[in-house]
Amino acid sequence: VRVRAEKSEVYPDCNSACAEVFRFRRVQGNHPDTLAHMRDSRLPSVAVQNIFCIGRNYAAHIAELGNRPAGQPVVFTKPTSAIHHPDQPIRLPAHSSEVHFETELVLLIGKGGRHISRQEALSHICAVTVGLDLTARDVQNHAKQNGLPWDTGKGFDGAACLSPFVAFDAAPPLSTFTFSLQINGELRQNGQVSNMLYPVDELIAYISTVFTLQPGDLIYTGTPEGVGPLKPGDHLQLALNGQVLSKFDVA
Ligand code: ZN
Repeated sequence: VRVRAEKSEVYPDCNSACAEVFRFRRVQGNHPDTLAHMRDSRLPSVAVQNIFCIGRNYAAHIAELGNRPAGQPVVFTKPTSAIHHPDQPIRLPAHSSEVHFETELVLLIGKGGRHISRQEALSHICAVTVGLDLTARDVQNHAKQNGLPWDTGKGFDGAACLSPFVAFDAAPPLSTFTFSLQINGELRQNGQVSNMLYPVDELIAYISTVFTLQPGDLIYTGTPEGVGPLKPGDHLQLALNGQVLSKFDVA
């Protein structure tokens, strides 16, 4: 897949999807907490639009929660007020007594679209990072058992932790990417993008059949196995391809 076919004149190291999102989404006046920051400090931050999340995308995680694989990607959303950056400690919400970490590859959409083909899908990605889809598991389980929506279990303040984004390049291919979470120095989750049940190109194609993707949208692509509860005082470290991108502390 050719991602870097057209280069940006303003940001020569970036692909054409980045050029698009930097042009349209360099919005002044957005609340700083709802921005996606780039690891390369020469690149502008992006105002996040919608946050899409994928559930049940790794077989071993489906098994550990006792869920069944879905016949198509499970999609839910979080509000932008859930975005949380590493400069502030994670505050566990009062409405839950069991907040789980879910470590996920996160995509920043640079070029929007509807009915995006799988062939074109990767060219819509500006940048990637590792994030945490924090989940109030007790609240989510109660909602699932009662056939209710998950929003209070998945969308609370701080539930969308984000590391700085790394500009996306076609090489090396996404299928070789790995990401990890260490807590207090111990490896707790180790994800391999190649283990996704629905790969990234298929996720973008599928989501864009239902929702118009916009520059500045995020996609949390699902967690591998190893999820578990956070506790006060935990120190978290997120890495992409072995490179540490962020550290979060739990208050
Ligand atoms: Zn998740």
